[in-house]
Parts: sequence; C-alpha cells; structure tokens
Amino acid sequence: MSISPEFALIHRHFAGCAPPNFLALGIGDDAALLPWPVADAQRRGNPPPAGQKAALAITTDTLVAGVHFFADGDPAALGWKALAVNLSDLAAMGARPVAFLLALTIPKADEQWLRPFVEGLAQCARAYEVALVGGDTTRGPLAITITALGEVPWGEAVRRSGAQVGDDLWVSGQPGRAGLGLAIRKGQLADSLCGAAEWLAALDRPIPRVALGLALRTVAHAMLDLSDGLTQDACHLVEERPELAVVLKEEWLPLAPLLDGGAPLALARTALLAGGDDYELLFTAPATARAAVLTASKTSATPVHRIGSIEPRSEGEPLMLKTTAGAMTPLTPRGWDPFREES
Ligand code: ADP
Ligand code: MG
Repeated sequence: MSISPEFALIHRHFAGCAPPNFLALGIGDDAALLPWPVADAQRRGNPPPAGQKAALAITTDTLVAGVHFFADGDPAALGWKALAVNLSDLAAMGARPVAFLLALTIPKADEQWLRPFVEGLAQCARAYEVALVGGDTTRGPLAITITALGEVPWGEAVRRSGAQVGDDLWVSGQPGRAGLGLAIRKGQLADSLCGAAEWLAALDRPIPRVALGLALRTVAHAMLDLSDGLTQDACHLVEERPELAVVLKEEWLPLAPLLDGGAPLALARTALLAGGDDYELLFTAPATARAAVLTASKTSATPVHRIGSIEPRSEGEPLMLKTTAGAMTPLTPRGWDPFREES
C-alpha cells in the first residue's frame, strides 16, 4: 500500500528520535502514550515496571489561518474547535482528557478577537472538564497549536493497530456533515438547505466523542478519530497490518441523513467518504461485542453505525467496498493531505 505523503514525511524525518521502550507508544497513533509516573529506570530506556497503573496520553494539533480555517471566521467557534479537535484524539485512545497547553500566534493583540476566542475555548474546556495549564503567545501569522493531556489505565488505551479478522467496523454520529458545511462556506451548496445549519455547526463546533471513547475502552479492538476523511483514515487501521483489509458495506453507510438534509447525491457521497473535519470515532469490535457497543452508545448518548468489517486482505487492497449488488470492489482512499500534490 502506498503511504500518504504526510505520513511518509513524518516517518522519514521524525520517527526514531525516541529511545526504544521509553514510550509505551510513540509516533503513529492519535496520541502518544507515556508510562506515568515515569520511573528512573524507564528514563534510561527500560520497559515500564510490572504493576504500572496509568499512561499519560499526549497529542497536539495545529490550526493555521487560510489552511484549516477562514481567517475572518467566528473567533468563538475557532476557540472551541482548536480544543475540540485535540480532545477528539484523546477520545480515540479511550483516554480521559485532563489538561491542555495553548500556543497562540496572532498578528496583533486584538481584544475584539481575543475575547470571543477565549470564550469559545473556555466553553469547550468547561464542557469536557479540562484545564488550561500553560502555553505560549507570540506575534505572527494567525495559528493555534494546542497540546492536550489525558490519562488512561495502563494497557487499556485503544490503538489504531488492534483490529482482528472478522471485527465489525463502526463509526459514531454522522460523518460527512463538516464536508457539506465546508461546501456551503465555499459557495458550492446553498445555505437554505434544511441540513445547512447542522452541517455548519459540525464544521465550526465539532463535538469530540469523549464519553463514547471512554465507554469503548474495554470494548473496541482498534480506534481512531476521523479528521482527514473516512476512506483515508480507515486505511490507518490496517497500515501496520498488511494481512488485513477494511471492507465498507455500501448499504450500511449513513448517506440518507445527508440526502434528507438536501445534499445532492454526488456531493453527499464525497463528503461522507472523503470529507475531513468529522471528528467522529471509527472503531472495530468483535461481533460478540455488538450489545456492548450499543450499550456504550446509549450510556454516552452518541449514535453509532455499523458500516463494514475487517477481512483478510486480498490482492494488496487495504480498502474494499461491498456494493449494494454484492460485488467487492477496491476503493481508492481519498481525503485531506497537506502534502499531496493536486493534479
Ligand atoms: P492526527 O490526525 O490523529 O492528529 P496526524 O495524522 O496529524 O494524527 O499524525 C500522525 C502521527 O504522526 C501522530 O502519531 C503524530 O503524533 C505524528 N507526528 C506528526 N507530525 C509529527 C512531527 N513533526 N514530529 C513527530 N511526530 C509527528
Ligand atoms: Mg486523530
């Protein structure tokens, strides 16, 4: 399988900068895992001692004006989103968010912008009970970097690589909404459609699926959050597992709610399969755990859809679509990659 340009760059330059064993999990997942507390022996590269109780989950994400958001957009929504996308990565590990740091680069000290920005940020922090504990403020082109910290019982974090043959593939909520919201912002779709308000809200104020992630911790085999597009992100589940393929079942994909909102079929399908910024959880679990998944959905008040399965890979294809007619066809992963050359 060809690795995406972004991941190729990361692996070429940044992998290998940590001593082996120091981290429970380094580069490659939604968050890194650090044994916590760190014993002296671990600092020297020894494995975590038996009886380790917890891991610290750490993740960071940057939003750049003109790349990830419109510079003239609502600052309150931006404050919410900058934190929410980081909490989503913690949720994808089954970690409980604890605190975060904010590195803010702003062109000028503009009170009119800063006040609502911090309001939106604080609203998200309150909703998920996380504290701002540090950061950095500097002058330059508008960009926001948040580093979020969470905790997870040792050995219970849900990794991207844990899928097993025969697992069900599930997704939370409604992927595709943010992609349609973006289409509205770009003037490709009318803002008078009945789904428009919901799609714009999904784009502007994504809901990190923290409660669902926690509830799935002992249920899911593998999990990640959707940030770059369903088909592209789904491939991460089998990146380290060349013997496995992700199979999406066409008739199970939650396309109807997007069509009901007024989206044209082609656009709805593209948003669902390749639209970024969803921040839904994509996870696998054994068929025997279906009732447990539905319980997790209920206790976290988060809808889930079963959309496919994990199967043995054939002919090198990491991603397949089982069509409504029953045919199996390879599916080209599509989504957002900052380093892909557009043709
Ligand atoms: P996500 O979309 O879940 O935030 P990314 O696709 O941004 O994850 O990153 C993939 C993996 O590569 C993550 O584990 C991340 O920590 C790691 N990574 C990305 N950029 C760097 C970097 N500059 N140095 C080290 N690790 C990086
Ligand atoms: Mg992620």
